Amino acid sequence: MNPRFLVAKDVVTGDEIFRISSLSFYLTLLLDVAMAAYAQHLHLTPVSIAALVLLGGLFALSGLRYLAAHFVKSVSGGAILELLASVAVVVTLTLQRAMPTPPLPWLIALAGIFPLVIESGFALGGVLLIAWIGLGLNLDLGVPMSDWLPHTFATIFLGLLAILLSQALNANISAVWHARTNERRFDAISRATRHVFLICDAGYRLKFSNPALHDVLGYTHEELAAKGAILRIHADDVIEHQKKLRHLRDNERSQIFSRHRVQHKNGQWIWMETSGFNMLHDPAIGGLVFSLEDVSARTDIENKLEQEHALLRAVLDLNPSLIYAKDLRGCFTISNLSFQRRFGYASEDELRGKTSYDVFLSRAEAGKELHAYEIADAIHMQDMRVVETGVPQEGVELQGLTDADNERWYRTNKYPLRDALGNVTGILGITRDITERKQYEMRLEYQALHDPLTGLPNRRYLLTRIGEAMAQPGTVGSKAADGRAHGMAMLFCDLDSFKSVNDTHGHDFGDQCLTELTGRISGCLDESDFMARFGGNEFIILTYGGLDLARQKAETLLAEISRPLLVDDTVIKLQASIGIAELQEGHRSPSELIRDADAAMFQAKERGRNRAEVYDASLQAAASKRAHLEVALRLALERNELMLTYQPKVSLIDGSVIGFELLLRWNSMEYGEISPEEFIPIAEASGMVVPIGAWVLEQACKQLSQWQMKYPVAQHLTIAVNVSMRQLLQSSFLGDVKRIVGETGVLPQSVELEITETSAMANPLQTIENLALLKQQGLRLALDDFGTGYSSLSYLQKLPVDVLKIDKSFVRGIGSHPGMRQEDNEIVRLILALAQTLNLETIAEGVESPEQITELKKLGCFVGQGYIFSPPVTIEAAEELIRNAPKYLMGDLKRVEKLQSVA
Ligand code: C2E
Ligand code: CA
Ligand code: CA
Repeated sequence: MNPRFLVAKDVVTGDEIFRISSLSFYLTLLLDVAMAAYAQHLHLTPVSIAALVLLGGLFALSGLRYLAAHFVKSVSGGAILELLASVAVVVTLTLQRAMPTPPLPWLIALAGIFPLVIESGFALGGVLLIAWIGLGLNLDLGVPMSDWLPHTFATIFLGLLAILLSQALNANISAVWHARTNERRFDAISRATRHVFLICDAGYRLKFSNPALHDVLGYTHEELAAKGAILRIHADDVIEHQKKLRHLRDNERSQIFSRHRVQHKNGQWIWMETSGFNMLHDPAIGGLVFSLEDVSARTDIENKLEQEHALLRAVLDLNPSLIYAKDLRGCFTISNLSFQRRFGYASEDELRGKTSYDVFLSRAEAGKELHAYEIADAIHMQDMRVVETGVPQEGVELQGLTDADNERWYRTNKYPLRDALGNVTGILGITRDITERKQYEMRLEYQALHDPLTGLPNRRYLLTRIGEAMAQPGTVGSKAADGRAHGMAMLFCDLDSFKSVNDTHGHDFGDQCLTELTGRISGCLDESDFMARFGGNEFIILTYGGLDLARQKAETLLAEISRPLLVDDTVIKLQASIGIAELQEGHRSPSELIRDADAAMFQAKERGRNRAEVYDASLQAAASKRAHLEVALRLALERNELMLTYQPKVSLIDGSVIGFELLLRWNSMEYGEISPEEFIPIAEASGMVVPIGAWVLEQACKQLSQWQMKYPVAQHLTIAVNVSMRQLLQSSFLGDVKRIVGETGVLPQSVELEITETSAMANPLQTIENLALLKQQGLRLALDDFGTGYSSLSYLQKLPVDVLKIDKSFVRGIGSHPGMRQEDNEIVRLILALAQTLNLETIAEGVESPEQITELKKLGCFVGQGYIFSPPVTIEAAEELIRNAPKYLMGDLKRVEKLQSVA
């Protein structure tokens, strides 16, 4: 930048002195010439006139320059020409005698004026030129040396002086310019900056402040400079700050840094960072210089960051999960307290830089390093996969982290960590101890799949298990390469009459029986067998190895189950019926296999219980026959297909008929004669037994009433009717009986209702109640098939029955014949003793031989019923028996003979 632009009026420059001095020089020279002309000393020649004109021109030029310095600038080149012109004017005027005074002072003046504006090299040349011309003129004019030498010296001296002056002035100007530049720069900076600059004296009185003071702290310079005014420092910071200030003031060239809060004029506290410099030694400053920066925003951010960091740290460390971060190489960078504690590290720093291998191997027990290595390797690999793929992995479950906690379960989520550009920088892992949840889940799962009482797999579990087996090749009934069967078979095991055990002895007792049996059954099974509790008293066993093996197993189970059981000091004998079915290609679902095994089990029950039956397709046919029979049975009553047969009951003492048992017959249009053993269960199951039973009772009562009217002997006859439990439990039954007895007019005590012992046991309480009501009506009650149920003495005592009907299976075994069994004798004896105790009548059914009669009489049973006397016969035949009143001949005869009674 050209310093001339900065020239101000108050700065004296060589140029300016030149402007004035050159003007006054030309003016004085003109005046001198004019005065000489006035004194008529002037001798004008054309040359001198030309020189005067030139002088006039120079004067005009300088005048112009003086008046308008900005427009007419002196330039070095121009000044040299002007110098030459001026020298020429002076020399010419001198030589033309047009100048009254000697020329030398004028030349000296020129040597003093022009170097002010001419550059020093040319200026010196100019001065020497003038001195030389002066010398020439002096010699020419014959001036003695003693006169011209001082002039020459004076010329050179003044010229040199002017040169030095010009240089000094120029230097001065550039110094001033620099100073002003700096000042302006400082001014600009101090205005533009947000930093507050203050200069104070040693007494902390404000000497200087920049405008930022007002912007930042709200005070004007004047307000702060006023006497007694100070900046307010926050109470928490003031002592520290003042200490620093004192240190600054008392130590020359010292420096301080302070961070404190200062109060804004509006009362708000502002965080300031202050740098202070002691510049008391510097006379230009002579004070303490402060630079203050408002760092509130930064401090706020820093504080916030600090708080956030502390919060995050707390969240990390208070979290019971094991939280860690690793870098790209799989080295730990961050870890929370739980993690450090879990692996025995005292701090995050201690763990930082280590790998999973370091951590796990350092915890491994001696000899278990390989296991620890494997876990570490698995974890490391997972982490690295997350790092490489950038895909999070969630829900990685692991049992046992170290040898010490093999029982515990852990679940880890792994997330990639990314920088601002989205590049993966590491991995964050969060591992939670989910043992409780896992145990809970497993317990739930266990509960969902197991029976709480026996701990056996339940129905649901069974179904899945069968489903799995079905999906597996080789489990379908087939033979392996070695010829051995290995298909899967199902044993459907149903405890017979278990309900009565529960009802008689209570459910706790029943439960204990089940638990005990579970132990027994599972004790017979192979490891590969699967046992489930399917229902209350049903167990299902899946076994591999073909049907033959399954059958063997079933036999073992039956034997095992029927061993007497001791529960609560009570010995009880249970038995079961087992259905076996093999998994076949045709089975489309687990329930189809169960259906088959169930059908086989049903068959086992039908065939007398306590046995095992293998499913075969004909069973299915039987089932469908049942269904057809059921339909036919519904129509049997209205189609008149049912009829009653009468089987006499005979006194073993005198051979007289004392009554009849009525037994139902069905001659179906479609199916021919069907045994009651077959259709009664169907009638019971379908409920048809209720109307049929009512019909039977009605027929029986009508018939007896007719006979009693016709034959006097019939007065003492009883008729026995079989009543099924289904009827007895029907609420309308009592009413029906009342009505029928009332309508037909028979004596209630002539009517005997037979209820089987097993069915009476099935519903003990209800049975007692209903039988008591019937008893109130005056009817006789008999317990049929006695000995096959499990009536306890206490129960029997409560049952209001009159007669025990000894089951034919026991009767069959007594008497002296090849098939005779001693224990049957024993049972019959026991039954009779029991009947005696309870004051009950007895009747033996199924009497077929004279030996049985003899034995029965010996044992104390005096009424019998059976083929030896008569099979069930038609009404007509029965009526014949009443009319003839025969007496069967007892005694030692091989045959029992019917004797015609003597009228
Ligand atoms: P139950 O009440 O035990 O009847 C006796 C069964 O033994 C009758 O078979 C009878 O024919 C048979 N029987 C009679 N004497 C002898 C003998 O010396 N030796 C042998 N081995 N058997 C003999 P049935 O008539 O086939 O009746 C079978 C079962 O059907 C009856 O057994 C009874 O429980 C039921 N039943 C028959 N009729 C009715 C009825 O009207 N209502 C109900 N609810 N059930 C009936
Ligand atoms: Ca009967
Ligand atoms: Ca019977």
